[in-house]
Amino acid sequence: MNGIQLHKHDLPAGLDLGPIVAIDTETMGLDPRRDRLCLVQLSSGDGTAHLVQIIPPALGGRGADCPNLKALLTNPNVTKLFHYARFDIAALENGLGVVTAPVICTKIASKLVRTYTDRHGLKELCRDLAGVDISKQQQSSDWGATDLTPEQLAYAASDVLYLHTIWAKLEALLVRENRRAIAQAAYDFLPTRAKLDLLGYVDPDLFTH
Ligand code: MN
Repeated sequence: MNGIQLHKHDLPAGLDLGPIVAIDTETMGLDPRRDRLCLVQLSSGDGTAHLVQIIPPALGGRGADCPNLKALLTNPNVTKLFHYARFDIAALENGLGVVTAPVICTKIASKLVRTYTDRHGLKELCRDLAGVDISKQQQSSDWGATDLTPEQLAYAASDVLYLHTIWAKLEALLVRENRRAIAQAAYDFLPTRAKLDLLGYVDPDLFTH
């Protein structure tokens, strides 16, 4: 049974989400420099999603004042598991002022081993590796609303609930295809990649001729 716990402003103190925490973010749009961070979803992989709503002080919230969440994002002993970490790390740095690390990313792992397809979206990975059909209907909704709808909360939760299952499958494929080390090197570069995005090195990026 999947559960959803909505927290305003910060994670509760003393919440232990284990050594690998699945994380996703919802923002006002696709530009991490322009679009504010609205929601941070987290799961230990136990079927429960913790949703932290980030509310600006102008709307009566605490903004980036979320010490428990920031402690987890920067804890060197907790691995943060994302799908397309590049965006979320940039959004979290822009919104909260912290660099999330260490991180692993299911999109990078999928691109390294599922070379027989070009479909590496979360919806495809959920379907192909976890046998779950998730809806992306709420993706482009207004995440800045003070009161999120039940549909938004369910959608936001579904983006972290299956990441551990997907990651375990991809991890086995990385080992099988001898790409575990290159995956780790790519994961380790992600905070730098996100920083380059925030600096504007997007198109052309740093590695383009
Ligand atoms: Mn999401």
